[in-house]
Amino acid sequence: MPHLRLRLATMTAVLALSVTSGAVASPAFADPRQTEKTATATGYGGAVSTVDPEASAAAIEVLRKGGNAADAAVAAAATLGVTEPYSAGIGGGGYFVFYNAKTGKIGTIDGRETAPAAMTHDAFIDPATGKPYNFTPELVTSGVSVGVPGTAATWERALDRWGTLSLGDALQPAIKVATRGFVVDPTFRQQTLDNKLRFAAFSSTSKLFLPGGDAPAVGSVFQNHDLAATYRLLAKQGTSAFYSGPLAAEIAATVQAPPKTATTTLPIPVGHMTTEDLAAYKPLDQAPTHVDYRGLDLYGMAPSSSGGTTVGEALNILDTVNLSEMSKPAALHYYLEASALAFADRGKYVGDPAFVDVPTAALTDPLFGKERACQIDPLHAATKPVAPGDVSGYDGVCPASAAELADEKDTENISTTNMTVADKWGNVVEYTLTIEQTGGSGIVVPGRGFLLNNELTDFSAVYSASDPNRIEPGKRPRSSMSPTIILKDGKPFLALGSPGGSTIITTVLQTILNRVDLGMSISDAIAAPRASQRNTAKVTAEPDFIKAYGSQLTPYGHQFTPSGDAFTSAAEIGAATAIEFRPNGRMIAAAEPVRRGGGSAMVLNPSR
Ligand code: GLU
Repeated sequence: MPHLRLRLATMTAVLALSVTSGAVASPAFADPRQTEKTATATGYGGAVSTVDPEASAAAIEVLRKGGNAADAAVAAAATLGVTEPYSAGIGGGGYFVFYNAKTGKIGTIDGRETAPAAMTHDAFIDPATGKPYNFTPELVTSGVSVGVPGTAATWERALDRWGTLSLGDALQPAIKVATRGFVVDPTFRQQTLDNKLRFAAFSSTSKLFLPGGDAPAVGSVFQNHDLAATYRLLAKQGTSAFYSGPLAAEIAATVQAPPKTATTTLPIPVGHMTTEDLAAYKPLDQAPTHVDYRGLDLYGMAPSSSGGTTVGEALNILDTVNLSEMSKPAALHYYLEASALAFADRGKYVGDPAFVDVPTAALTDPLFGKERACQIDPLHAATKPVAPGDVSGYDGVCPASAAELADEKDTENISTTNMTVADKWGNVVEYTLTIEQTGGSGIVVPGRGFLLNNELTDFSAVYSASDPNRIEPGKRPRSSMSPTIILKDGKPFLALGSPGGSTIITTVLQTILNRVDLGMSISDAIAAPRASQRNTAKVTAEPDFIKAYGSQLTPYGHQFTPSGDAFTSAAEIGAATAIEFRPNGRMIAAAEPVRRGGGSAMVLNPSR
C-alpha cells in the first residue's frame, strides 16, 4: 500500500511543522497537505499538470466530484494564488484556452491586465526629473506598472461559458488550502528571499510574506487567512466584489499610494488606477490563432498575446522542411533561425488589436511562413537581429521582401505559471496566468492577501508612435504567453504551455518540435535542455544545452550565452506543463521534473 504509506508520512510530517503568518494550525489529520511531486502520471478519467501538488490535487478533487476541466482549472488556478502567490493570483492576468468536446471547438479568454485610463504616453517618465524611470527598481516595484487585474473576471467568465460549478464552489479548495496552510518548499523560500528588499518596502507585504522579518522556513506551514477571506467574499458576491465596492477602492488606493514602510530607500513611483478603471474591466472572448503543422491543428492565443502568432509563424516556417530527417544539430539550427524570424515579426507587428492593426492572418498564413523560410541558410546562421518580413505583399516566392526593423528591448521576466487540465468528457484547458515578475509589483493590497501585478512593464519602456506595443491608456501590453492546444483529426492530441516571459514562446515551440519531429516522449520533450533565440546576437541557452549542442552549433555561426534570470541566479528556461492524449482515453500528464523545484502531474485513475 505505497499510497497509504505516503499519506500517513505526510500527515505525520504535518504534526511536526511550525506555522507562520501568525495563525493557529488547523487540525493536521483532517486534511493532509500535498507535498509529493510526480513529473509524469498516466491514466484515465481526467488529468492535470501544474507546478504545484496542492493545485493539482485541487483540480483532481473537483474532477473526482464530477466537475469538468473548466471547473478544475479555476480551482487549481485559485489554489496557485495561495501556493504560488509570487507567480499568479487575482492581482494579475492571463489567457485561458478551452477545447469544448461537445462542439469540437476551441475558445479563448483574454484576461490580460489593462492600462488605467490616466496612463499617458509619458507614464514611464519621472515627472520630477523629466527622464525615463529606470526599469529596475523604479518601474518594477511601483504603482505605475500595475495593470487592472483580469484574473478574477477570467475565472468567472470561464465558468459561465464552459463550467458547471459556481465561482463560489470552484474557490472552495483554494479557501481550504489558504486556511489550513501549505508546506513551504525551498522554491517558495528562495523566491521570498530574492524579493526580500522589495517586500520589506511595503508594510502590507512584509507583514504577510516576511513574518518576523524573514522568509518563511522550509518545512513550515504558511497560512493566508486574508486571501481566504478575499476568496470567500468573491465566493459569496461574485467578481463584482472585486471590480467595485470596498475592495476595488482599496486596490485603487494602494496603486495610487503604495503602503511604503518608513525605512525603505526604494523610490516606488505611484500609479494611476481608479475605481472607474476597475469597474470598466472586461475579459475578452477571442477566436484562437490556428496553424496546420504536419497535419496537426494547432490553436493558440491571439493578440494581445504574441504567443499564438509567433509560435504559429515559426511552425509555418519549419513546415517547409523535414526536421525528422535532419541531423539533430541541423534541426536545431532550423529551430533557432525560424524562431529569430518569427520574433522579428512579433516585434514589428504585434500589440493590442484594440489599438493596433495586427496582421494576425498574415503572420499565421503558411504562404507568409514559406516566404520567411527563404531567409534560412541551411548551413549558416543569419546575422541577428534579422529584419521583419513585409506582411503587405507576400506570395510565398523567394526572395522575401523585408520591412524596417523594430527597435525592441526585451524586458520581460521569468515568472508566471501554467496549467493543463482534461476531464473524462474530453474537454481540455490550457491556461497561463501571471502577475508578471516573480513577486509582481511587490505590493500586497493591505489585509487582502494578494500581490498586485507589474504587468505594464511589458509595454515598451520608451514610447514610439510606430511601436505596436507603445503605452496607451486602456491598452493591454503585449504578452508572450502561449497556451496551446493541438488537435489530430479533430480530437485533442497535446495541450501545453509554460511560464518564462518571452522564452515562453520558444519553450512551447521547442517542446512541440521535440515531441512531433524529434521523436521524444512528452515527458522527455519537457525535460530536454532548452535554447531560446529571440532575434538577438546570442542564443540564450541553458548550460546543459550548451554542453550538449554548443560545439555542434557554433560551426553554423550560433553563439550562446547561458540563461539566468535578471533577478535571481536561476539558469532555467521555463517550467512547462502538458497533457498528451492517447488512444482509448488514456492521458499522459507531464510536468517539469527539475526546473523550479519540479511540477506536479496527476490523473484521476492511474493506469497500472
Ligand atoms: N509578462 C509576461 C507575459 O505576459 C509573463 C511574465 C513572465 O513569464 O515572466 O508574457
